[in-house]
Amino acid sequence: MIEHPPVERFPLAIRTLTVSSTTRLGASFVRVTLTGDDLADFAAPGPADHVKAFFPDPTTGELAVPRLTAEGMARPDTGTVLARDYTPRSFRAAEDDRPAELDIDFVVHGASAPASSWAAKAAPGDTLVIAGPRGSHPAPTGMDRVVLGADATALPAVARWIEMLPEDVEICAFVELDHPSDAGYLEPELVHRASVIWLDRGDGALERGIRNVDDIDESTYFWIAGEAGGLVPIRRHLRRELGLPARQVKVDGYWRAGEAGRDHHAPLDPNEPED
Ligand SMILES: Cc1cc2nc3c(=O)[nH]c(=O)nc-3n(C[C@H](O)[C@H](O)[C@H](O)COP(=O)(O)OP(=O)(O)OC[C@H]3O[C@@H](n4cnc5c(N)ncnc54)[C@H](O)[C@@H]3O)c2cc1C
Repeated sequence: MIEHPPVERFPLAIRTLTVSSTTRLGASFVRVTLTGDDLADFAAPGPADHVKAFFPDPTTGELAVPRLTAEGMARPDTGTVLARDYTPRSFRAAEDDRPAELDIDFVVHGASAPASSWAAKAAPGDTLVIAGPRGSHPAPTGMDRVVLGADATALPAVARWIEMLPEDVEICAFVELDHPSDAGYLEPELVHRASVIWLDRGDGALERGIRNVDDIDESTYFWIAGEAGGLVPIRRHLRRELGLPARQVKVDGYWRAGEAGRDHHAPLDPNEPED
């Protein structure tokens, strides 16, 4: 039976990092590599861990960053905090004369969106402030098969899942893309390790893919993330129509069309309670 080990907690930290390089990956992604002494105690061991990153207002250029207090994070005295969640794609601890490095892979989608516009223009020497991860969810245990579902924003997390799962777990990944060249995002060894099905985004392709999964038993786990509105029928299918328990299903709305800075803890469908 699938079980979830306890969440690993880390002290809250706000880290000021410096961009050391940027790399364009496919049509949609910019990989921003960050470095800095603040990475010394960085850890993100769970497959779907995330950090909160703080961005300047794209119009005024003003950056507002919370302060760390004994009670936790506090709002700065002035300015509006623009925080967005990102997956730490890979972290390399410092070694000999090589500094610690953190890669974050940004989908570039809009010139006026704080995170996307910052990433599109990021250059060596720029600063990025991040907080967390505060809590890390280890991969569940007792899984024979993991079914992943994602759009481009969740592709960094899909890569982490594939890297981290034990070899005896079968992995099937459905990935919806706007641009076919983004399929090159996954390194060949990851594509080889999993059974990856690339889908053209839109028109319910991800939902159809998930609905076609058969032979589901109590050791099958579903992890699905992407645009929240498109995930509503998928969650309904898995939890209501198939009746799978919460321990076998995680559906996470990483962003919602038409909504800036969506909180991914909010229910996918405000009219449908989540248990
Ligand atoms: C746990 C977690 C991990 C995440 N990891 C990553 C990651 O590693 N890489 C990544 O790129 N994203 C990731 N995301 C998604 C990212 O946080 C959102 O896409 C975020 O809204 C981007 O912020 P923004 O300032 O660019 O746009 P916002 O200001 O939030 O939104 C402005 C407008 O753009 C739209 N929009 C937002 N994102 C997209 C998009 N990707 N494509 C098209 N339109 C969009 C919004 O609907 C809104 O209309 C993650 C989200 C979560 C919750």
